[in-house]
Amino acid sequence: MLDTDVLIIGAGLAGMSCAHHLQKENPALRCLVLEKSRSVGGLAGSFTQDGFTFDYTGHLLHLHDPYGKDFILRLLRGNHIRHERSAWIYSQNTYTRYPFQANTFGLPRRVIDDCVVGFLKTLNKRPPAQNAGAANFKDWSLQTFGEGISRHFMFPYNQKLWRAPLERLTTEWLGRFVPKPKVEEVLYGALTDQKKFFGYNASFLYPRRGGAQALPDALAARTSGIRLGAPVTRIDFRQKIVEAGGLGQIRYNRLVNTMPLVHLIDAVAGVPPGVRAARRKLLYNTVYCFNIGFNRPRMSDKHWIYFPEKRFPFYRAGFCSNFSENAAPEGTSSLYIEISRSPGARLDFNKTEAQILKGLRECGLTRRSDQIVTKKWTPIPCAYVVYDRDRTPSVQKIFAFLGENRVESIGRYGAWKYSFMEEAIMDGKRCAERLLGRKAAIPERPDAPLAALK
Ligand SMILES: Cc1cc2nc3c(=O)[nH]c(=O)nc-3n(C[C@H](O)[C@H](O)[C@H](O)COP(=O)(O)OP(=O)(O)OC[C@H]3O[C@@H](n4cnc5c(N)ncnc54)[C@H](O)[C@@H]3O)c2cc1C
Repeated sequence: MLDTDVLIIGAGLAGMSCAHHLQKENPALRCLVLEKSRSVGGLAGSFTQDGFTFDYTGHLLHLHDPYGKDFILRLLRGNHIRHERSAWIYSQNTYTRYPFQANTFGLPRRVIDDCVVGFLKTLNKRPPAQNAGAANFKDWSLQTFGEGISRHFMFPYNQKLWRAPLERLTTEWLGRFVPKPKVEEVLYGALTDQKKFFGYNASFLYPRRGGAQALPDALAARTSGIRLGAPVTRIDFRQKIVEAGGLGQIRYNRLVNTMPLVHLIDAVAGVPPGVRAARRKLLYNTVYCFNIGFNRPRMSDKHWIYFPEKRFPFYRAGFCSNFSENAAPEGTSSLYIEISRSPGARLDFNKTEAQILKGLRECGLTRRSDQIVTKKWTPIPCAYVVYDRDRTPSVQKIFAFLGENRVESIGRYGAWKYSFMEEAIMDGKRCAERLLGRKAAIPERPDAPLAALK
């Protein structure tokens, strides 16, 4: 039987970062990273078809943490481009700048009135508690942005994305993801085309060559012990044995998981009924991505566009060929179109493709003469963790059980949270520090469920 000190499930950014930092600090430690697919990177990977490179949907680097930034830049070794974000919203047959709440200029007069008057009415009221687990998203949006902004953007867009009743969503995930403008910014953005940048992702980096995959590939080159095509199918916490396709049984001393928490619990033998019940309460959505290449260069000058209206089946569209000219062959453009569904809901690909193409023409992105030169659907079965009222207590219950068994579960899906690539890398580093008996140098985010382990 194979035997290892640390067994890591998943060679995405979190799993590889954990292995890399363990190996850097203690080269004698035996580390095994088991990855079910034939390539590294997980969701931060890319694929190439007919000369086009697509991510699992556009993966842009937003760097905030000094260590994370330095680490990622050293991995990329100059293979990156820096962009000022060009993000837009298409509604009421009009393009407005992101974020909607600060940029209503150009919309029909009655929509601007709704948004501005609604926002002004919120000012006399007590500000809503920020990120309080008890508040629900619907009330928070009404209290924070008012009736108009909620009705014209926040409600329809978030309904389309989360596929869950908005009054059941909490506000824990909002933090840096939904910027709140000041009153003068809302007014100014209603009167003029305000070019000010708001929010956590005002600029971003993207690999010049190789798509998002360039980052995990660079990390894999500095990490040993990765076994591809090795899906973990069963785990016995008591015996400390994992079963993996192609490798059989493997004995471990410490286990680190990065696969979705729900799948981890499904694979574990002898899970207590209370933990199983908590697992059943964890919700997520599935994102279907339609990747298209067209035979026309520079179809748009934008990076991505949000589509809140029901008449469009997609909630967002992005231009990969605007992230890097190497993402598409010369003389072409490439897009990704994102559609969200509840897990298990059927999507009629042919019908949806026709609706997408009609939608792209209606909003002026494509012309009748444009021809598709490549296309591919890529489903992301577990894409966004849904922060409803059951999410946090259920995650805490599951993490108490993992803690009793000295099992770490990290990354976007292992920790069951809304996060991004840099954070996955930092999660792996902090986990390595815990395993090595060192306290993490950088504190966890307050909502990180790993607190349950301490
Ligand atoms: C639609 C979408 C868009 C996004 N856009 C951005 C963006 O623009 N910028 C950004 O920074 N972040 C973005 N993210 C988030 C980013 O993808 C994640 O934060 C990050 O890639 C998570 O890394 P991870 O290692 O935690 O998880 P994953 O990438 O999911 O890695 C987990 C790994 O485990 C493997 N695995 C699963 N089950 C098993 C098993 N049974 N046995 C063995 N291996 C298994 C998987 O194959 C995978 O490789 C986006 C996410 C989504 C869904």
